[in-house]
Amino acid sequence: MTVYLVGAGPGDPGLLTRRAAELLAHADVVVYDRLAADELLALAPPDARRCSVGKAPGAVEASQGEINALLVEHGAAGRTVVRLKGGDPFVFGRGGEEAEALAAAGVPFEVVPGITSAIAAAAYAGIPVTHRGLATHVTIVTGHEDPAKGHADVDWEQLARAGGTLVILMGAARVAIIAARLQAGGLPPDTPVAAVQRGTRPDQRTVRATLATIGAQPIAAPAAIVVGAVAGLDLAWFEHRPLFGVSVVVTRAREQASGLRGQLETLGATVLELPTIVVEARPVELPRLDDVAWIVLTSVNGVAAFFDQGLAPRGLDARALAGCRVAAIGPGTAAALAERGVRADLIPERFVAEALVEAFPPAASGERVLLARAEQARDVLVDGLRTRGYTVDVLTLYRTVPAAPDPDAVTRVRAGAVDAITFTSSSTVTNFCDLVGPLAHQPLVVSIGPVTSATARDRGLRVDAEATEHTIDGLVAALRDTLAAGRPPGGATPRPPS
Ligand code: SAH
Repeated sequence: MTVYLVGAGPGDPGLLTRRAAELLAHADVVVYDRLAADELLALAPPDARRCSVGKAPGAVEASQGEINALLVEHGAAGRTVVRLKGGDPFVFGRGGEEAEALAAAGVPFEVVPGITSAIAAAAYAGIPVTHRGLATHVTIVTGHEDPAKGHADVDWEQLARAGGTLVILMGAARVAIIAARLQAGGLPPDTPVAAVQRGTRPDQRTVRATLATIGAQPIAAPAAIVVGAVAGLDLAWFEHRPLFGVSVVVTRAREQASGLRGQLETLGATVLELPTIVVEARPVELPRLDDVAWIVLTSVNGVAAFFDQGLAPRGLDARALAGCRVAAIGPGTAAALAERGVRADLIPERFVAEALVEAFPPAASGERVLLARAEQARDVLVDGLRTRGYTVDVLTLYRTVPAAPDPDAVTRVRAGAVDAITFTSSSTVTNFCDLVGPLAHQPLVVSIGPVTSATARDRGLRVDAEATEHTIDGLVAALRDTLAAGRPPGGATPRPPS
């Protein structure tokens, strides 16, 4: 029953406020424009109505009057409406006009401020908009001078005399004229200028110039153009992160991709998810555990399936394992167990099946081991534990099946538009190769461990890096180290003769 005028922040989904996320989660209707990120829209309930109101360049956009009418209509109908606006809703967002329309119609509204691109884009380029000794004030000004849009003529010469930092929004197309007028107003030609394009997004690009030179540079919208001494400071950090500008394919199952994706994005990478496998649970009945000495779990999927699917009407109670010891193949699996209240008794030093076998004490008298795992697993554990004297029962919990290809992602990979591919298991390799086919220019291939690497080589791929520690952390470290060692991203590395 309220219309919320909500700031979405400048692009980085992490810059959304908690209040905005909370309101999105309870929205009946989300009204958004082009600057809104898909990640933010995904926070709304799946059945919420999503109304796009423009504004792709060149396309017909809803007029402000139509947007106001839409908000009034949904608000008056008693719906919870989130009007999601880029940056801050009251900084050149026309949020003021929307609030006026709602007030006039007697529709209750609230305003949720957002992080404005005027300050955030500069910050992500390493530019403080005020700085002791350099700038005591900042002016945020529109560079768009279309009277039809309601922006009055800006007195650039006057602004030049006022000094301080100028942040120009909506000025990409007119930067040359603006720079000339600021110089006409008395700002020196060597005044630093930084144009931060697509600020806070994975493809942020900062052009650094002066008032004399900026006009010759092509600047693409959206851009925040910073003029003044602070634009000469170079405290760049965002564009200097280790994986900035590197596009990385994640081939894990969609449900499992978020951890790896998050780590890569934190380091600056642009992630392309190309899920190659789908985890398909198999309904199983839990065997009696009274004479089971050890339960062995070899993956996070296995733990999830073991506890959560089909084993008991409401999932498994951790107390059922009271009499057993539990082995996990690695820290990821152990963490998944810990989430369910079970501390692993055994984790090998290296996170592969061979090391797990070695870590097992020899069986005294044929103790039983329940090996809960995927259908396609290798025989190393079964054979190895039998050799150590155990009686091994296998509980097949799930299988991985090839995922339906995402045509856009496949096309991008085939076109060589990615810099690196990550493989977290043999099945991701096999299914990836089946989905994508041979690559003319192979990007960097990074594998989680020796078994996955061997599968990749079998399929004709060159393995550029292999995780020393066979975990997601190890995989990310391997990619990072390989790039730091100066190997060029992209298809620049020639394929060795086979
Ligand atoms: N209310 C918004 C501004 C809307 S006007 C805010 O507070 O940020 C649209 C202009 O904002 C664009 O033309 C551009 O100048 C600026 N802008 C929006 N997103 C941006 C981004 N990610 N990087 C740089 N500038 C951005």
